[in-house]
Amino acid sequence: MQSHINRREFLQASTAGALVLGSAGQVLAEPVQTSPPGWYDRPMRWAQVAFVEDDPGNYDPNFWLDYFRRIHVDGACLSAGGCVAFYPTKIPMHYRSKWLGDRDSFGDLAKGCRSLGMNVIGRTDPHAVHQDIYDAHPDWIMVDAQGNKRRHWSDADFWVTCALGPYNFEFMTAVNDEIMRMYRVDGIFSNRWAGSGMCYCEHCRANFHDFSGMDLPRTNNPQNPARREYIVWRQKRLFELWNLWDSRIKAINPDASYIANAGGGALSELDMKKIGEITPTLFADRQARRGLMPPWMNGKNGKEYRATLGRKAIAGIFSVGLEEEYRWKDSVQNGDEIRMWVADGIAQGLRPWFTKFDAKPIDTRWLPVVEEIYKWHYGNEQYLRNLDPVARVAIVYSQRTATFYGGEKAHAKVEDSALGFYQALIEARIPFEMVHDELLDAEHLSPFRTLILPNIAALSNSQCDQIREFVNRGGSIVATYETSLYDEWGVRRDEFGLASLFGVSFAGKVQEHILNSYLQLSKDPSTGRYSPLLAGFEDATRIINGVNRVIIKPSPNDASSPLKVVPSYPDLPMEEVFSRVKTFTEPAVYAREVGRGRVVYFPWDIDRTFWDVLDVDHGKLLRNSVLWATNESAPVSVKGAGVLDVAVWKQKNSMTVHLVNLTNPMMMKGPIREIFPVPAQQLTLKIAKNQRIKKVHLLVAGKQIPFARHTDAIELEIPSIALHEVVAVDFA
Ligand SMILES: [Zn+2]
Repeated sequence: MQSHINRREFLQASTAGALVLGSAGQVLAEPVQTSPPGWYDRPMRWAQVAFVEDDPGNYDPNFWLDYFRRIHVDGACLSAGGCVAFYPTKIPMHYRSKWLGDRDSFGDLAKGCRSLGMNVIGRTDPHAVHQDIYDAHPDWIMVDAQGNKRRHWSDADFWVTCALGPYNFEFMTAVNDEIMRMYRVDGIFSNRWAGSGMCYCEHCRANFHDFSGMDLPRTNNPQNPARREYIVWRQKRLFELWNLWDSRIKAINPDASYIANAGGGALSELDMKKIGEITPTLFADRQARRGLMPPWMNGKNGKEYRATLGRKAIAGIFSVGLEEEYRWKDSVQNGDEIRMWVADGIAQGLRPWFTKFDAKPIDTRWLPVVEEIYKWHYGNEQYLRNLDPVARVAIVYSQRTATFYGGEKAHAKVEDSALGFYQALIEARIPFEMVHDELLDAEHLSPFRTLILPNIAALSNSQCDQIREFVNRGGSIVATYETSLYDEWGVRRDEFGLASLFGVSFAGKVQEHILNSYLQLSKDPSTGRYSPLLAGFEDATRIINGVNRVIIKPSPNDASSPLKVVPSYPDLPMEEVFSRVKTFTEPAVYAREVGRGRVVYFPWDIDRTFWDVLDVDHGKLLRNSVLWATNESAPVSVKGAGVLDVAVWKQKNSMTVHLVNLTNPMMMKGPIREIFPVPAQQLTLKIAKNQRIKKVHLLVAGKQIPFARHTDAIELEIPSIALHEVVAVDFA
């Protein structure tokens, strides 16, 4: 730990332009311009110990401090106050743990962590309060749609608070102030700070009326004017709260910040663009798998967060227990499930953060697993301090589309399309990023050749302009289904916003829930050859269609389309299962060159259906469309059997390729039982012609590896991969 203390002292003694030092004191990276000044980029490995009320006096702080030291944790998030205070608070009605006595559990553990050179942030949870607050301030309690104050759904001793009223704005502000004055921590992280659903309390009613002149909505339909205003007002209110807490925290410690538990992809509620602007760092709270969920979902968090945070540090919070709906909070997952989840996060740029509720661990099987992960991470830290990802393809995600077009069906209508495309790119081993739809400017899109729009239905005119400009600059797009058919408020247009790129015109009709429809594959009548979109389909004549489609006006060019719709026909009685139509004219894909760019448009839900059905033909079509649109060799190609999540990163003096082996019977639904190694993989990595290479080595196998140098690439064979391998190329 000595080196950590030196590093911290060094950073404290230096100006904002300090160098970042590695464990051996070597210079790893010069701070990049987009990294905020302060401590935020320093911690690489986090620990969260969330106290339960009977922890004070009953848990062993030295157990944790020994563990932190041994596994090289350099940031800690410790429970301080809010719902239950774990320090000697003097704020009236700030409920102290009944076990606290004259102890200071938070303060003592924070002090111990600091003596190890760690950054410490305090955790608060403002979502629930005891009866005394209810009695003194009944207006601080959340009110449901029926007008009843809301008891806590899990623990009847508690009441649920209103997030948008005086409880958060006044009481929790005082709690934050006290924690900052007493401990001068590096920040405050709040869990469940944004409310527990729609609140109809007197403050929400009055404040919303002042804002909009309307009563609170009674519907979740985003096309309802009051609901639309409410969505806007609630965000505004939460960002006001964020700003209030942050400015008060900084008034006491200018080097500290409020760090909300917030953020995510299309389905997250607070505008990620704004979050990316205001926060110095963020922690992705997706703790483990539940239900049907592939392990790459953790890496997806990393991509979604960095789409708006850029190079700011992002940690990935993982639970050591199961996260299924029954909430077994004291459970411990199988070690390989933890390993796979965390490996995918690390591969996609998340700094690991384990969270443990209850400081008196009952089942300790997770401890050596996290120790092994963290020790490896510490030993290879210089290769995990990434600067930029290397990818030429990006999937757009749109919170506006989810909110205003998807509404209550956002998962099915919006997110499932993105998940299908994501899975297709994983299977195709194409490294890719994610892009926020409010950041489609030239600078944010400059790394990319191909932009994927998986049913990004709601786009403003100016967003459509930005996409057209991207294509004018030589970019390509692959779009599906209702992309651009709605404006930014989710109101349907008469014509696609991107009609000029797609080269199609909307016929005014959308067909939903189509059964037993197919696609006819054909050669280009003018060349007699198969389109590159049909690569690998040369022996096929008919594949399945999707389930929902936009009807497009016929055009003279339709005959050249390689895929044509075979309209739905009866699927019962079996005697009637044949197509009445014998010639097919309606294209199922439009692919064309526009200037220097290429545009592929599928007027149906190929990506959503792929996620739903996982038919390999749809996966191949999606892959082919991206390869054709991108029209250049990929930054990396990895050939061999298995399913791998591939990521390429640049560091200051090196490049890395992460390969996470997802090949497993439990890939789509955990928990993983065991890891099944994949056989040898052939890797070709593009490297600039004049770039001199010192060595190439494998960070998990821990050995150098021979490679062949070509003009602008290297080629090598990775013998076998168990779970995770990282090919590191050190530059001379
Ligand atoms: Zn309220």
